[in-house]
Amino acid sequence: MAGNLAMNTNRSFTVNLTQLSKSKDSPLHVVLSGPIEAKVTGSAIKPNSQVTLDCRLEQVRSNSVLVTGLVVASWIGECVRCLEVAQGVMEIEVRELFAKKTDLDDELIYPLENDFIELEPMVRDACLLELPQLALCMTTCKGLCSECGANLNEGPCGCIE
Ligand SMILES: [Zn+2]
Ligand SMILES: [Zn+2]
Repeated sequence: MAGNLAMNTNRSFTVNLTQLSKSKDSPLHVVLSGPIEAKVTGSAIKPNSQVTLDCRLEQVRSNSVLVTGLVVASWIGECVRCLEVAQGVMEIEVRELFAKKTDLDDELIYPLENDFIELEPMVRDACLLELPQLALCMTTCKGLCSECGANLNEGPCGCIE
């Protein structure tokens, strides 16, 4: 078993916790990236893009791990006003507690499995919460003319008196 972090194409967001127990009082800093599939009504994580998680893992209590960090993900959708492509990059702060299933309590959201922590569900949930339901190509998008359907970002259409 060589290697510090368990990483391959399917487990991009899996971290081997033996690294954390070795470091005792100091948190473990990891930067992970991989594909994430997440989709809401108005937008989705950009296909074939890499989502990045830069985070710190800290041992709290005897067998819980607190994960604090930043998720950076590119999204793409359809502008609700003009129907053109809308896209952007979101930066999402995350702070989640992972614990063994036997220690279920009200703070617990994510389970901790033996020597590994699987951060992908947390990254995916963060993306799902942050993806715009009502995407805009730009905050100042003028949308389509309700009379002729012209894209008003491209200039006035002549319908307005
Ligand atoms: Zn638009
Ligand atoms: Zn018009």
